[in-house]
Amino acid sequence: MDENHPDGYLKHPREPIGKRAPRERIGDYREIYAPSWREEHLREQGERCMDCGVPACMGGCPIGNLIPDWNDLVYRDRWREALDRLHATNNFPEFTGYTCPAPCEPACTLAYNADAVAIKSLERAIVDRGWERGWIRPEPPARRTGKQVAVVGSGPAGLACAQQLNRAGHAVTVFERDEALGGLMTLGIPDFKFAKHQVERRLEQLHGEGIAFRTGVEVGRDLALAALRGRYDAVCLATGAQRHRDVAIPGRELAGIHFGMAYLTAENRRQAGREGAVIDARGKRVVVLGGGDTGADCVATAHRQGAADVAQISVRDQPPLERPADNPWPWQPRTFEQTYALEEGGRALYALDVTACVDENGDGAVDALTAERVRWSLDERGRRVDKTVLEADIRLPADLVLIAIGFAGTEADALAEAGVGLSERGVLAADATLMTELDGVFACGDARRGASLVVWAIGEGRDAARHIDRYLMGESRLPASLQTLTPPTDDDR
Ligand SMILES: Cc1cc2nc3c(=O)[nH]c(=O)nc-3n(C[C@H](O)[C@H](O)[C@H](O)COP(=O)(O)OP(=O)(O)OC[C@H]3O[C@@H](n4cnc5c(N)ncnc54)[C@H](O)[C@@H]3O)c2cc1C
Ligand code: SF4
Repeated sequence: MDENHPDGYLKHPREPIGKRAPRERIGDYREIYAPSWREEHLREQGERCMDCGVPACMGGCPIGNLIPDWNDLVYRDRWREALDRLHATNNFPEFTGYTCPAPCEPACTLAYNADAVAIKSLERAIVDRGWERGWIRPEPPARRTGKQVAVVGSGPAGLACAQQLNRAGHAVTVFERDEALGGLMTLGIPDFKFAKHQVERRLEQLHGEGIAFRTGVEVGRDLALAALRGRYDAVCLATGAQRHRDVAIPGRELAGIHFGMAYLTAENRRQAGREGAVIDARGKRVVVLGGGDTGADCVATAHRQGAADVAQISVRDQPPLERPADNPWPWQPRTFEQTYALEEGGRALYALDVTACVDENGDGAVDALTAERVRWSLDERGRRVDKTVLEADIRLPADLVLIAIGFAGTEADALAEAGVGLSERGVLAADATLMTELDGVFACGDARRGASLVVWAIGEGRDAARHIDRYLMGESRLPASLQTLTPPTDDDR
């Protein structure tokens, strides 16, 4: 192998770790991705990285993963060092290596006029190997500071924050209202996108490092925020942004209409063998409202449950196949991409505005939706302002309607009553150090930035830990993420 590899991309085509065939994977709840990969294949993919002077890929990654470093280390067969470089910026690389939409890849310099390095596949392969070889173990701190921190919420933001704070020597307790830990990694994202044993083994590591967990405790209801503030030196709110956005249309109250999140959570609980009512799509005509990721996960779950027919409706136009002129490299492309869910079947319907849910046989349950085909006029920021109706009274048969049109902020009524301010977007307001209006109470992840991505949650959890550490100790050696609100200063070194 060459010492340097500036021309690796000329020798090897881009070839990410693939997915299982749609026909095969639709019959089970196992991960859609190929379960294994060949070492030589991944080393060739690492060789494709040019190690260009300005790693634009790192600018595309919200946590600034040291991508060229570990690409090169994989190429050189130095997997253990690659894992260390990966963990330097990311507590849970398998969370992202399996679920991240990889905004780093369109920012890769190769993507300017060729195929990007398969960065996400390399990330996954490194961390897969780390687990296989037993390299990932608890890393408890050498000494304790005597400070106590409560983290509220056990999603990726809360867990990353907890691990960082614990490694800085603080005693950390994580409070979680659900019976299971992991936030949306456990109860939102379906098993076939992220297998739950992957959360379990990280939790084992966190337990082994000395972090305490208390499930079934809703802060603000079962335990007052004031009580937490009295008992702990600092509190971090990582409560997510799971307040549903609803549709206000006639017939919304009919039976057979559910929030997509309720549907997915119920199926996740069933897959985990927990008790609870399941919303079953078997034999039904399913319509999913919302063209995003949650909608896609509903489509894929409905197929696995044996739905008769699945349609996913988006109010927006189908995105273009080519980048528009105002959307050049290295910005995230606003182009059409087939989702894994629709690869498996079902129909995507665009530019449809649903006007009513209809009970045609008078039994109190939905039988159909009515909709209009529309064209939108957009403002300069791409927001929909006005519509022209191109076709009215479109009828779509539906026995099960799943609403997945996004989230309207964090479920913070009790926290707001306790004095935590909310922004106009309905999320927890915090300053540049991620501290809320209450002294010593910090916020991070979806709870602060609104419904987002796993990678942002991990990055904000790490940043919050660093700010809390500084709040408690006056200084911090914990690293900040690349895209933190407050980049490291000389004071931190
Ligand atoms: C269906 C679905 C699929 C997704 N797929 C992807 C994907 O493929 N890739 C990707 O990058 N992102 C995906 N996301 C987004 C991603 O899951 C979130 O951005 C991420 O989980 C946010 O992490 P978090 O820790 O901020 O919040 P969450 O994961 O929401 O965790 C918050 C936790 O706080 C707990 N909590 C809330 N209030 C309280 C309280 N008062 N007391 C105690 N506990 C409380 C909640 O029960 C929850 O466990 C998806 C989201 C959904 C809904
Ligand atoms: S976390 Fe996401 S954006 Fe960052 S390197 Fe991994 S796949 Fe790319």
